[in-house]
Amino acid sequence: MVFRELGKTGLKVSAIGLGCEHLDRKPYSQVEETINAALEHNINILDVFMPGKEVRENIAKALGSRRKEVIIQGHIGSTDIRQQYDISRDLPTVRRYFEDILRIFGDYIDLGMMFFIDSDEDYKNVFETDFVKYVEHMKNQGYIGHIGFSSHNPATAIKVINTGLPEMMMFSINPAFDMLPPEEYTLDHIDKGFSPELFRGIDPKRTELYKLCQKKQVGITVMKTLGAGKLISPEHTPFEKPLSVHQCIHYALFRPAVASVLLGCKTADEVADAVRYFELSDSDKDYTGIIGTMRNDFRGNCVYCSHCQPCPAEIDIAAVNKYLDIARLDPENIPESIRSHYLSLEHNGGDCISCGNCENRCPFDVPIIKNMEEAEKLFRNGLQTG
Ligand code: SF4
Ligand code: SF4
Repeated sequence: MVFRELGKTGLKVSAIGLGCEHLDRKPYSQVEETINAALEHNINILDVFMPGKEVRENIAKALGSRRKEVIIQGHIGSTDIRQQYDISRDLPTVRRYFEDILRIFGDYIDLGMMFFIDSDEDYKNVFETDFVKYVEHMKNQGYIGHIGFSSHNPATAIKVINTGLPEMMMFSINPAFDMLPPEEYTLDHIDKGFSPELFRGIDPKRTELYKLCQKKQVGITVMKTLGAGKLISPEHTPFEKPLSVHQCIHYALFRPAVASVLLGCKTADEVADAVRYFELSDSDKDYTGIIGTMRNDFRGNCVYCSHCQPCPAEIDIAAVNKYLDIARLDPENIPESIRSHYLSLEHNGGDCISCGNCENRCPFDVPIIKNMEEAEKLFRNGLQTG
């Protein structure tokens, strides 16, 4: 297992985590088997958004004395009024459900997530009411380790991050969602199927969100990595052929600020298959041949796939491009953390000998030589080349 820092929370989370949704309404023996497998494979972050008492208790029981070995994402505002998943901003209801999960997991939730902030209305109902005061109060009282939130909408997520309150976010990331235009609500495409004719390259709002997270050190945990299974389904994939689970994991793990991809496994075998990711070769995880069928949509934009390696100057080209993309957001005010990440790379833009090998290999026509030069100027000299 690989562990990554979850932004400014400072927590070290496993790069693959467990989304527990599919354990809902399953027998205890299955929950126990899946949780045991996750811990045996050193998974240390679990998302428990489900409001149901039984599944929460089953997970806590399966963890037993190992509760402190894992980081729990618990959601504030997730309820199951009328026996269905529901979102509530009604404070007495919110408190009832959240205080129930607190009790079940030992009066402490590592990541207290403001649940499902996807629209301006959600934003208002959280930030312009006592909801947010309750969340802050729970953190001040030590019941919540860190405040986070979940969202599927990049524009709303940007607004939430700019409040300065959340330290991390759970966001839905996969290549199909990334390619939908900003006016499309991604979850509608889960219900009615993807329409690849709408794809327009990577949505600039989503790119802006990922870069903002990296700049502000808001760590991301990923949901909907497989697009609710559609991306791996021959029938429903919007691409020429389905992606594999490991290709989807690889795509999500290499977006800026992403610390962990939470997979919704429901058996020990599914957990074991997910973590096989770490044993695979780069070519087994490479997704560019598939999303490359949408080549024109990505043209010129680095997707951090590392297809351009090896570089004779040993530059990690994807890393340089990633830092450069963040620096371009506001070249006059490059965050010191990003500059120091760039400068501590063993080889960086200034080492480029313009051999052009990488540009021949890049499936997305990224002007790599120009990028290396620009990165060096921006980070080393603080000059903007445009
Ligand atoms: S420059 Fe091209 S090949 Fe290299 S990481 Fe970016 S998109 Fe991939
Ligand atoms: S052009 Fe520069 S970055 Fe690309 S492979 Fe050659 S030395 Fe490496």
